Amino acid sequence: MDGKADLHVHTIFSDGALSPTEIITRAKNAGLNIISITDHDSIGGLDEAIAVGRDSGLEVIPGIELSASLDGREVHILGYFVNHFNQELVDSLAGFQDERMNRAKRIVGKLNKMNIPIHIDSVMEHVTGDSVGRPHIASALVTEGHATTYQQAFMKYIGDGRPAYERKWNYSPEETIRLINKAGGLSFLAHPGRSMNEDLLFRLIKAGLDGIEVIHPSHPPEIVYYYRGIVNEYCLLESGGSDFHGGEKGDDETLGKFAIPALTVEIMRRRLISN
Ligand code: AMP
Ligand code: ZN
Ligand code: FE
Ligand code: FE
Repeated sequence: MDGKADLHVHTIFSDGALSPTEIITRAKNAGLNIISITDHDSIGGLDEAIAVGRDSGLEVIPGIELSASLDGREVHILGYFVNHFNQELVDSLAGFQDERMNRAKRIVGKLNKMNIPIHIDSVMEHVTGDSVGRPHIASALVTEGHATTYQQAFMKYIGDGRPAYERKWNYSPEETIRLINKAGGLSFLAHPGRSMNEDLLFRLIKAGLDGIEVIHPSHPPEIVYYYRGIVNEYCLLESGGSDFHGGEKGDDETLGKFAIPALTVEIMRRRLISN
């Protein structure tokens, strides 16, 4: 079981810059054998990615990245091997997308109160898929000349805790994990190194997490070592990927550089069978 896998990739169906077809080409060129498309709250890119992947000899695992709220914090939970036709999943995603739209309007309202005359329509011009997020608002702020860079838009206005930040209503981690499991998938805590503490981590493990994303661009070697230890200690599964978005997010070189062995994916499949 040779080969390597990148199980965290975004497309234009959420806040990525490339189409699923473009991602497949890039992934092949990067020497990957397996990828998972994990758009935020969207399964819109999966059919194209799976079909084009099949034609190109690249396996595409149907995935999703969901946001969950825990003590007022947002944690990201990845779902792999989900049946993306599962009705409860489809309905829940529609609800999350509605909430994203309402929240984008609330952020625009806050910006307007700060005398930044931005309109929701100019935000929507940057939306290529079906879930609007802060990245699209950041792009609109840059295009309209209210921020010099994408990063500055977050720092000045819409980053966590910044003046125009608005929370998004999400499921709890328990509900999120249940939704993924009911759609036949496995749940993984995404990039824990970015925001996790041990207390929260153990609550998530208790909530039924199947695994942890150990390999991620934000994880230096000591963090990888730490989470791999947790995975082994609690009989969890390990995952990893580049969290590739492409374009202006400045991660253009990461696809294929934060990969896991294909064997690790095989271990996930065995867990699926035994579930
Ligand atoms: P949302 O899901 O709408 O809250 O947007 C979250 C996304 O915004 C993240 O996945 C990042 O891509 C991006 N983001 C959040 N905070 C920052 C930041 N401080 N700088 C750059 N990008 C950020
Ligand atoms: Zn993203
Ligand atoms: Fe994330
Ligand atoms: Fe992501």
